[in-house]
Amino acid sequence: LVDKQSVASSSLLPRFLNSDLNDNFGYFIKKKLRVWCQLQNGHWESGQIQSISSDTASVLLLNGSVVTVSAEDLLPANPDVLEGVDDLIELSYLNEPSVLHNLQYRYSHDLIYSMSGPVLIATNPFKKVELYGNDYVTAYRQKLLDSPHVYSVADTAYNEMMRDGVNQAIIISGESGSGKTETANFAMQYLGAIGGVNDRIELQLIQTSHVLEAFGNAKTSLNDNSSRFGKLITIYFNAVGNICGAQIETFLLEKSRVVHLARGERSYHVFYQLCAGAPSALKEKLNLKAASEYNYLNQNGCLGADNVDNAQKFQILLEALNAFSMSKEDQEHVFQVVAAVLWLGNISFQVIDSEDHVKIVADEALATASSLLGCRSEDLMLVLSINRIQTSKDIAAKSLTLQQAIEKRDALAKFLYASLFNWLVDKINGSIEKGERQAGRSISILDVYGFESFQRNSLEQLFINYASERLHQHFIRHLLKLQQEEYDLDGIDWTKVEYRDNKDCLDLFEKRQTGLISLLDEESNLTKTSSLTFAEKINQHCKTNPCFNREQGGAFTICHYAGEVQYNTSGFLEKNRDSLHSDSIELLFSCSSQLPQLFASNNADQASVFHQQSLGTKLKAHLFMLMQQLENSTPHFILCIKPNSGQIPGIYEKELVLKQLRCCEILQVVKISRSGYPTRITHQEFAERYGILSKFGFSQDPLSASVSVLQQFGIQHEMYQVGYTKLYFRAGQNDALEEARKQVL
Ligand code: ADP
Ligand code: MG
Repeated sequence: LVDKQSVASSSLLPRFLNSDLNDNFGYFIKKKLRVWCQLQNGHWESGQIQSISSDTASVLLLNGSVVTVSAEDLLPANPDVLEGVDDLIELSYLNEPSVLHNLQYRYSHDLIYSMSGPVLIATNPFKKVELYGNDYVTAYRQKLLDSPHVYSVADTAYNEMMRDGVNQAIIISGESGSGKTETANFAMQYLGAIGGVNDRIELQLIQTSHVLEAFGNAKTSLNDNSSRFGKLITIYFNAVGNICGAQIETFLLEKSRVVHLARGERSYHVFYQLCAGAPSALKEKLNLKAASEYNYLNQNGCLGADNVDNAQKFQILLEALNAFSMSKEDQEHVFQVVAAVLWLGNISFQVIDSEDHVKIVADEALATASSLLGCRSEDLMLVLSINRIQTSKDIAAKSLTLQQAIEKRDALAKFLYASLFNWLVDKINGSIEKGERQAGRSISILDVYGFESFQRNSLEQLFINYASERLHQHFIRHLLKLQQEEYDLDGIDWTKVEYRDNKDCLDLFEKRQTGLISLLDEESNLTKTSSLTFAEKINQHCKTNPCFNREQGGAFTICHYAGEVQYNTSGFLEKNRDSLHSDSIELLFSCSSQLPQLFASNNADQASVFHQQSLGTKLKAHLFMLMQQLENSTPHFILCIKPNSGQIPGIYEKELVLKQLRCCEILQVVKISRSGYPTRITHQEFAERYGILSKFGFSQDPLSASVSVLQQFGIQHEMYQVGYTKLYFRAGQNDALEEARKQVL
């Protein structure tokens, strides 16, 4: 096993090149070193300066042509010895074309991981790369390999947890389709391998993702296997570092997908897997047809996903359910609900009068759906054709129009599916081994939905992008804001690095009373409101926010950290209310099948049905809890990058990558960590640890003792700074002190 990822050695870094290019660029031109040259089409090409006049330069490009450009369009390129360095920090010249080139160079050599200071960048290979498995786990555990890898991030988290007794969080971000979920799985695989005492827990961790994937992933236009829910997996360890349990928490499954599909997209995988792979006895029991027979699946003609064998995937799902010791009976109930949802979608309505009122067609769909649910078909018919309304005196019945009946049916299907999903998560949580949990002994892996922007964006995207903004704030806070604030407070001489904060955008969502989430709730709770009144209302309150723009009709635009998205408000209020009519609830609880138990376990959702808590409010509260947990953990950031939008191996679209790097302020992160002082220690701690090395012994105050040690060891001035409370060191500066200390002890 060779260290494929290490292709350049940082020790060769030519120190004469200062990072501050403005000062040195004249020198650069004079010496005719290699440059990046921006052409008229905006692309950066590498070349060599041939001659210069006052403010233009003629540059010989790699392809042999010579161009004349203004000096403003030149940036210094890095020397060849730095080609493909592991960590962007090592680049002598930190500019966009250099960073892009470095990442692309590595990508073309299948080195999909790179560091950018404290952040691991993972570029999606869209193909199998030979970087995983037991040999690699061992190599990273034993430090035979130290090139950037998700394994090494997981290893660091594990070591820091053991050393400090502090909970750790591996936070994975990136656009939809950039590889977050795969990366989370690899991190889990690593932790399972090094912390698993037996194969069982390791296997269960891996099987978790198979179950969640079948029920919570779907093909979208951005990703054939897109997770439509967020998840936080927390793995608990005991005092000696063995796994003693795990817990999954999920966020906001996209329910609307069960009943409505956008063009080119599919519903959840499990529907197709069940139809294709169920053994004949089960097929018969559920009266299953081909996927193409179901309205919820065939509405847009997109039934297949390339290269996916649904029947085989169904077997994988069964194996995974078995791994959690789920009884055959329970498994059958699960598929019963899945089939019931499909058959509900086939229930049809006949308009019976001029006011569009309907009656249900008593056909196979109605009969099968009722029998799968365990209710009488007359009862289901009644629920889907009238609303019973409690008046002051008695109960009145109101016939439903076609539109209302369809909505009521679809609401039932969505509720059933979401409840099933939550029930499964509970089941999995219940069956994963549980030892005693200890404070400060856990590693969480966070994989929430990535930023999304489609042609048409609705409430689902608004929520996904809101969650994405929240996490982005955490990223910025830890990598850009807190670092600099600490330097400021401790009186460190520091050139501030500027970055874009997304505070305005978060305010737009979260402000009390006048934020989008509050306004959405307010409008959802009022009668006689519509998407247009909502659009009007938010415009009134939000128009002064720089991230908000009203558009034609009911639309509005938000300027997110990752780009502008236009949202169409139609359907916002109903989706946000997320309520199930009391008739439907009653029906479900009267069912003779296992269904009531299935929902009874599902306390959170049940409560929300009755308390009518809206989706937006639930999400906001959930995110706040998540943030609290993250704030109490040591963060490890992984940024997944999507190199092209076609999910194709080998294609590297520079503009697309650059956009993603810019959104996450990667250059700024590298700048701060490069010129920053990653090792920090209080005067007191330093004196206690290294005071024995001082010629003057312990007699002095901590600060004087510390400084005298530093002088004695000839640590150069630019390598450390003395703050009011702490000493700050550049990377690797106290190695010599540690060595000397070992010898004295
Ligand atoms: P996200 O969760 O960010 O939406 P996924 O993790 O689902 O993205 O990744 C999308 C697809 O990219 C996967 O289905 C897989 O085909 C491919 N992929 C991502 N990461 C890797 C990897 N490390 N190795 C191989 N393929 C990958
Ligand atoms: Mg995903």
